Amino acid sequence: MKRSTPEWELYERMIAQMIANQSSTNYCVTPNARLVGRISGRSRQIDVLIDLRHDTDNSERIIVDAKKRNRKIGVTEVEAFRGLMEDVGASHGILVSPSGYTQSAEKRAQATVSIRLVPLDRLMDFDPSTWPKCKAKNCKNGRIFWDGYPELSMPPITLRKSGLVQSHDKPFVHYVGKCDRCGKFHVQCLTCGELFSVDESNEDDFGQQCRCKPLWFWIASIEEDEQGFQSAELHVVFLNTGKIITTDRRSLQ
Ligand SMILES: [Zn+2]
Ligand SMILES: [Zn+2]
Repeated sequence: MKRSTPEWELYERMIAQMIANQSSTNYCVTPNARLVGRISGRSRQIDVLIDLRHDTDNSERIIVDAKKRNRKIGVTEVEAFRGLMEDVGASHGILVSPSGYTQSAEKRAQATVSIRLVPLDRLMDFDPSTWPKCKAKNCKNGRIFWDGYPELSMPPITLRKSGLVQSHDKPFVHYVGKCDRCGKFHVQCLTCGELFSVDESNEDDFGQQCRCKPLWFWIASIEEDEQGFQSAELHVVFLNTGKIITTDRRSLQ
């Protein structure tokens, strides 16, 4: 079944993809995020959310609002956006528009808000229908947005007796990301091609492994930052050392 995606949603996803492509791997990008406002207590929809990837720390949060509209961004939109930034604890905000902005909007933006112009004709080269389908049973038409590419290696095996040194240090490359509708984490191993979802709300989940049966498994959980704000996190757990790496995050507050 073909997914009929409204053009504003395509514009939002394209902006999310552009930001993920431009961001350092230290940051994780979540399209269509939902955060509980810290002041309002209400659920706030965020077009693109950028938080640190490896840490339970949301102090460097950036949010993006993609306004697909024909008129310029004005001072009212900037003020509403600054209110949203304050509510979700963002240190910086990016307003994106295909039609530019007024002078007063630019003044009101000051240093904490950047306004960017991204023309609509860029959409011609953007096709998220190639993104894999979400594996969650009750998710309608969700697609997986990949935003991280962790490489994991097995420790080298040394066969001293025979004098041979056999190395197994070829890295296993993975895609990690989340559904653009329900937010569920997904992992794909590029060695075997297997794609699976990892559920952060299932406490009985012992973790997921691909067919390669590597020395690690994937697990997700809800964690809190220093101020008690919650995030869902995707981890890799190494079986030999017990080491845990956070590979992706999706903040909830
Ligand atoms: Zn989904
Ligand atoms: Zn595999």
